[in-house]
Amino acid sequence: MGYKTIVGLEIHVELLTKTKIFCNCVNEFGGDANTHCCPVCLGLPGAIPKLNKGALEFGIKAGLAFNCQISEWVKMDRKHYFYPDLSKGYQVSQDDNPLCRNGYVEIEVEEGLKRIGIQRIHMEEDTGKSIHTEGGDTLVDYNRAGVPLIEIVTAPDINSSEEARMFLENLRNILRYIEVSDCKMEEGSLRCDVNINVVDTETGKKTNITELKNLNSFKAVASAIEYEERRHISLLEKGENTAKETRRWNEVENKTVVMRDKGSADNYRYAVDVDVLPVVIEKEWIDEIRDSLPELPHQKKERFIKEYALPEYDAGVLTQSKELAQFYEETNKYAKDPKQVSNWVMGDVLRRLNDEEMEIEDLKFQPKDLADLLEFINAGKISNNIGKKVLREMFETGEKPEAIIKKKGLIQISDEGELEGIIEKVLDENQQSVIDYKNGKDRALGFIIGQVMKATKGKANPQLVNKMVRERIEKR
Ligand SMILES: [Zn+2]
Repeated sequence: MGYKTIVGLEIHVELLTKTKIFCNCVNEFGGDANTHCCPVCLGLPGAIPKLNKGALEFGIKAGLAFNCQISEWVKMDRKHYFYPDLSKGYQVSQDDNPLCRNGYVEIEVEEGLKRIGIQRIHMEEDTGKSIHTEGGDTLVDYNRAGVPLIEIVTAPDINSSEEARMFLENLRNILRYIEVSDCKMEEGSLRCDVNINVVDTETGKKTNITELKNLNSFKAVASAIEYEERRHISLLEKGENTAKETRRWNEVENKTVVMRDKGSADNYRYAVDVDVLPVVIEKEWIDEIRDSLPELPHQKKERFIKEYALPEYDAGVLTQSKELAQFYEETNKYAKDPKQVSNWVMGDVLRRLNDEEMEIEDLKFQPKDLADLLEFINAGKISNNIGKKVLREMFETGEKPEAIIKKKGLIQISDEGELEGIIEKVLDENQQSVIDYKNGKDRALGFIIGQVMKATKGKANPQLVNKMVRERIEKR
């Protein structure tokens, strides 16, 4: 028996425009409650909304980056429903004529590149926020009401939690590259709902679609898909079906719970919002926006492979964010070996950033400082291991590598005369190891070299120590 999981995603993305979608209120996360509002975004009678050109431009930008067709004109529609954080009694959205259609995002699966279709991207306004107090009251903050959103709806082309995660990562990277959103899930500027069902590939029997909400991280999206996959399969195995319903992900208990039955289809009574005038989008404007698109992650990755002769894996990691890619390229301007730079950036730099939950922009040192550090290593002035110590210090203080090396006296000892005395002393103190090595125990050599390194606080040139220790033992 085989089962196939079918997943489609709906992603809401807040756009980084300076002002809201229909008024001049500031579009900013946070702020004292109800301080970023006016009669337009509150929907007071008589207020006249005007579509923000910047929001439309960002929507088109996203559509082009996701290979969509852009509509020749747009209108806005009213989606009617009641909710306390929606003071108008309707949300201004787009119904039958979305801004963008028929695009795709590629992900890398085992068999190669897989296209995940994007059915539509439409513009809409965000709602306010209800805040439930511990005292049992509900307060409403309308600061978010009227923040421009795009809703991205995928085709049901995703077949696993892993594919969903890859898709979302690529989508987020692209949106950040084109600078239309910061995509911070923790601040709600990227929100994802999942539609999932499972089909029995032998009998063709399908479960009804479940809609999943309240997914606050990519990890939650993946866990919720896996949970639902198991739930739907067990229903099929029992010959049962699931009700068409909306479920909420419970992060603490690691399971989904029913929010509401979707048995009867929602009726939003969509109607054209006659207050917002339709807008014709001229082809010249679309071309201008297309020309302004930056190099996208997959294009940058291809270039990194060609230009720096990097393995595909390295190029993929380094181009995940525009800032990281920029740091890498900038370092390379001063360094000689692109693969060495890649190793250091992907290894010690990224690991430390991840451990401290920092972004590359938070680094206290500059790309040139890293290049200088590598030059010290390549010139044999410090060892690779000392280099790592210096980098740790650069993380902490932002001091230049040269200053750290001088201050701590870390210059590598490559002077045979200086090492000779130390090696002789170590050999005198470890005569048993010398005998062991002469009797063919190679491990004893490692021990002796270790002792020499220890005696020099790691500053001795390891290759030179290796050579000299062998010679000295031979002479004994
Ligand atoms: Zn306003």
